[in-house]
Amino acid sequence: MPFTLPALPYAPDALEPFIDKMTMEIHHGKHHAAYVTNLNKALEGNEWASKPIEEILASISKLPMAVRNNGGGHYNHSLFWNILKVNGGKAPGGDIGAAITRDFGSVDKFKEQFANAGMTRFGSGWAWLISQHGKLVVASSPNQDNPLMDIAEVKGVPVLGMDVWEHAYYLKYQNRRADYVAAFWNVVNWDEVASRYATAK
Ligand code: MN
Repeated sequence: MPFTLPALPYAPDALEPFIDKMTMEIHHGKHHAAYVTNLNKALEGNEWASKPIEEILASISKLPMAVRNNGGGHYNHSLFWNILKVNGGKAPGGDIGAAITRDFGSVDKFKEQFANAGMTRFGSGWAWLISQHGKLVVASSPNQDNPLMDIAEVKGVPVLGMDVWEHAYYLKYQNRRADYVAAFWNVVNWDEVASRYATAK
């Protein structure tokens, strides 16, 4: 089995009250686990199984839909757990803070644009902050697609992602996606975002 479920980098109740324990347990232990299982199944006996996930996503148009859905699901959730943390949400500083101000005008304007991308994504999908050779851009994608995929409308390297599937928030917030999106900022791990941006550049 080439792909494995990464452990959560904190306890499932660590992000309370912003993201609740049961949501985290089901989201990681059931949803992400299923993406991993189904990705392994979809790539069984396929030469792509030995390649890094980023390389698979960059050629996703040549692969079956099950690889797109489950490979995207595996990559997106692996990123998601790591860009969240306990007591996150401090203002982004350093290079990433400066780049956000340069490309969006201010951190608040960036947050507004990012939240809007999450709110206007109809149905299931993701909001993204991506690096395009150092320039920061906000995007969104349907289902488990992401900006690394060759079929993506807006391409780049994800440095921050927000899951807006109902399974990410429905137990606590029900239909109030806006409340989940507002709460998200309290648990963003800006050190991880900064490090992803440094690598992406
Ligand atoms: Mn999810």
